[in-house]
Amino acid sequence: MARGLPKKKPIKGVKQIVLVASGKGGVGKSTTSVNLATALKLLEPQKQVGLLDADVFGPSIPLMMNLNESPILNEENLMEPLINYGVKCMSMGFLIDKKSPVIWRGLMVMSALDKLLRQVAWGPLDYLIVDTPPGTGDTHLSLIQNIPITGALLVTTPQKASLDVTRRGAIMFKKLEVPIIGILENMSSITCPKCDNNISIFGHDIDKLAEELDIPILRKIPLYEEITESSNSGKPLVLSVSKNQYSDIYTELAKDIIVFLTKQPINTN
Ligand code: ADP
Repeated sequence: MARGLPKKKPIKGVKQIVLVASGKGGVGKSTTSVNLATALKLLEPQKQVGLLDADVFGPSIPLMMNLNESPILNEENLMEPLINYGVKCMSMGFLIDKKSPVIWRGLMVMSALDKLLRQVAWGPLDYLIVDTPPGTGDTHLSLIQNIPITGALLVTTPQKASLDVTRRGAIMFKKLEVPIIGILENMSSITCPKCDNNISIFGHDIDKLAEELDIPILRKIPLYEEITESSNSGKPLVLSVSKNQYSDIYTELAKDIIVFLTKQPINTN
């Protein structure tokens, strides 16, 4: 009998998995996940992209991807992901009543997460983007211990309180040998509507953190009203008709991720 941790088991038909993580909530992790998944699909329409909302307590994907139906079961008794903008999505929010809070202990969360990973007809997928809950808790450990993660993208705002927990997240991924793709600095600045100047309200401490951890800052996204509006309306900014410098940043981020993924192993199961 072998000792040690259980062996990681790939998700059938899923080639590469990217975790989107943040230390704190409300820093733009879900917004990044939906724009990243949609931008990947726009850049490479021939590829299959999935988006898993692993935030069991606070699912945002139903709202941000404008999906509300209940998934149906296929002949193999697997749930079919809901699809919008060409992206296959799954979220706890599709399975529970919208207004009821999830009041679960850790074990129940783990069991739900396992269902969202293994009892969904994900394949074939080239990329699965996983929107993780904030922090460094059970969900992250469970994901990292059970499935092969291709890389993690860290999302943070630049103020010290957020950077301190981002450091903890980065150290966790390093300890558990998950490659860190880089940092997305969100809400990095705001453009003054009167004088058009860029104001960095939260400071510049992120540059020091990136250097200390030896992780690249991939992109910086300002605080911008249309980003909130797009999340609220269920249509990611990268799909807005009026292409602008802000949606372009998400597209460039998706290109960075593709460059990273092309150098990483692919699951062929
Ligand atoms: P998290 O997943 O980290 O909890 P969300 O992605 O849900 O954070 O973002 C929290 C709120 O902030 C959402 O309403 C979202 O639309 C808004 N938001 C995120 N990033 C930006 C930004 N760069 N500019 C304006 N609003 C943003």
